[in-house]
Amino acid sequence: MTIRVLGCSGAIAAGSRTTSFLLDDRILIDAGTGVGDLTLEELARIDHILVSHSHLDHVVSIALLADSVMRRRALSVDGPIRVHALPETLATLRQHVFNGAIWPDFTRLPSVEQPVLAFEPLHTGDRLELCGRRIEVLSAVHTVPAVGYAVQGRRGWWVFTGDTGPNPALWRRLAELDLSDLIIETAFSDEEEALARKSGHLSPSALARELAHLKGPAGGGALQVHITHIKPGETGAVMGQIRALSLQHPVRALETGERMALD
Ligand SMILES: [Zn+2]
Ligand SMILES: [Zn+2]
Repeated sequence: MTIRVLGCSGAIAAGSRTTSFLLDDRILIDAGTGVGDLTLEELARIDHILVSHSHLDHVVSIALLADSVMRRRALSVDGPIRVHALPETLATLRQHVFNGAIWPDFTRLPSVEQPVLAFEPLHTGDRLELCGRRIEVLSAVHTVPAVGYAVQGRRGWWVFTGDTGPNPALWRRLAELDLSDLIIETAFSDEEEALARKSGHLSPSALARELAHLKGPAGGGALQVHITHIKPGETGAVMGQIRALSLQHPVRALETGERMALD
């Protein structure tokens, strides 16, 4: 089974879509604008959405997806799409998105008895089993309550940091896991390091300080680091700055549309 990168950009432009990963066809990890590239059939197969935090670039397609698949889900035996997130994130979605003004409350539509969405709170450190997949909720440090996710694959754990600034708790936990892939954000170039710090993101220099906490993988397996959340038009500059730091692990820019094998 695979992870499909639907979007991994820090903003939109032609060819750039915001954060979303499709795990095993059934689980979305974040719901940025990349979700809009799925067919109606693919959208209707989604049973779970794991949300990292409430920012629009990560949640916009929860709202649009609910509308797209409402009739199909209402007629199926699959039940609602379960939206998993921190209680604070769910409260924000309820208050500011599914409030009847920005968008209808799809946790009560098409009927209160059989809604298309159901909200399920989770907490940092939780271990979930969804569609036969083991998933752990990781800490993140951002301007709003946030988490990352680790998904167990055969080669090791696939880890998505979510949007995060410097995060010592993450490295303490990752030191205990065998990682195959680390998806980590570098939202700003070093010229904008002050902005990165203020907005709870990383720049290349901050990334290097974070990755220094990460030991080489046990058993000689190759850990691949993938950079995400770069703004459109900034990839060359950000990746150039990262390469100049000669980091200990192989680092590359994640690309929209790629598929990452877990098994
Ligand atoms: Zn954010
Ligand atoms: Zn973001």
